[in-house]
Amino acid sequence: MEMKPFENKVWLSSPTMHGEEIEYVKEAYETNWMSTIGENINEVERLTCEKVGCEYSVALSAGTAALHMAMKLAGEQVYGKPETGKGSLAGHKVFCSDMTFDATVNPVVYEGGEPVFIDTEYDTWNMDPVALEKAFEIYPEVKIVVLVHLYGVPAKIDEIRAICDKHGAIIVEDAAESLGASYKGVQTGSFGDYAAISFNGNKIITGSSGGMLLTDSKEAAEKVRKWSTQARENAPWYQHEELGYNYRMSNVIAGVVRGQYPHLEEHIAQKKAIYERYKEGFKDLPVIVNPFDEAVAVPNYWLSCLLIDEDAMCKQVRSECEALYISEPGKSCPTEILDAIAALNAEGRPIWKPMHMQPIYRMNGFITREGNGRAKTNAYIAGGSKGADGKPLDVGMDIFHRGLCLPSDNKMTAEEQDVIIEVIKKCFE
Ligand SMILES: *Cc1c(COP(=O)(O)O)cnc(C)c1O
Repeated sequence: MEMKPFENKVWLSSPTMHGEEIEYVKEAYETNWMSTIGENINEVERLTCEKVGCEYSVALSAGTAALHMAMKLAGEQVYGKPETGKGSLAGHKVFCSDMTFDATVNPVVYEGGEPVFIDTEYDTWNMDPVALEKAFEIYPEVKIVVLVHLYGVPAKIDEIRAICDKHGAIIVEDAAESLGASYKGVQTGSFGDYAAISFNGNKIITGSSGGMLLTDSKEAAEKVRKWSTQARENAPWYQHEELGYNYRMSNVIAGVVRGQYPHLEEHIAQKKAIYERYKEGFKDLPVIVNPFDEAVAVPNYWLSCLLIDEDAMCKQVRSECEALYISEPGKSCPTEILDAIAALNAEGRPIWKPMHMQPIYRMNGFITREGNGRAKTNAYIAGGSKGADGKPLDVGMDIFHRGLCLPSDNKMTAEEQDVIIEVIKKCFE
């Protein structure tokens, strides 16, 4: 059966507008609140606190800016001198989720810190608590952990928090992909001492751009309000005692976010239906969809992904920037499936390439469940290196090798999705 490409491209995850957004933008325009102050910003901050259940939120230009401010706060909290409260994480190691988007970890480097990457577990594709415990054995001095909830699936929060408490470390939570997801009935974004969410164009709701810093500390929120508006002191002129940033959200962007908020649950329901349709569609294939623990977690289903069983993988080789595969009956690989999806005029994507595999971070530490991952996996060929338990030692690399993100746009029709499912099935014939 030859599949005809879709007339309109099916995206991985694109903005879905509803009409209210333009009304709030228009209101900002007509009342001339065309800056970084205004009713839209106030409302978006209020709505975020109400949704996530945090005390304070500060609307910023991007999720990355929010993570930067979070790292600055974490640095002051942990390394600030008692006399002044000032200090930073410069020169200090910070434990970070490894399989994530680089915006999770770059802000550590902006602040002069050194990310040490913690390998991934198979149950939620997030930070492995066993590897985290190992990391504290190797680097007991570390006091900050940056934790992401990948693709909207909550990480193993209880286990990770218990380990952090034991070692006196604080958590910076990257909830950029997981707005609306919950763990034991509590929203992600409320677990970290500081957290970030994102309104980037591909996220579950969007402002076209934008992000937010979340915290329960009034003092921290006030610091971020100051730092993000050029760190102006209370004086008749521009007076500066601290380094400032231009990170505040625009009231126009906030209008878009404000109009999106009433549709958050609707977006999640659409994404959930997409996830379940894939899951059902693939039930006879040697694959799984991205997993989560139903007993504790409710994801926001931001992206649906699949992972091919090890013995159903055809040969696939990736260099730094290219990929090749050899087709085989009954088997497939992410590269073959991504090609097939692209030929349909739909957008899939490889799994976020783990940070420890990125050239920019090749000198940084990487800890697996068996300890120092660099020592054991530097000359690693995917699938070739197993731990004592017989499973791949480098879990992030393994999921990157066998996994991919599927078209997950909430405007995709059931019929379009069925065609995508059929095309993927054909890859395994
Ligand atoms: C999108 C994203 C960010 C960054 O958010 P921006 O608003 O694009 O700056 C950070 N972390 C993760 C995991 C993301 O997916």
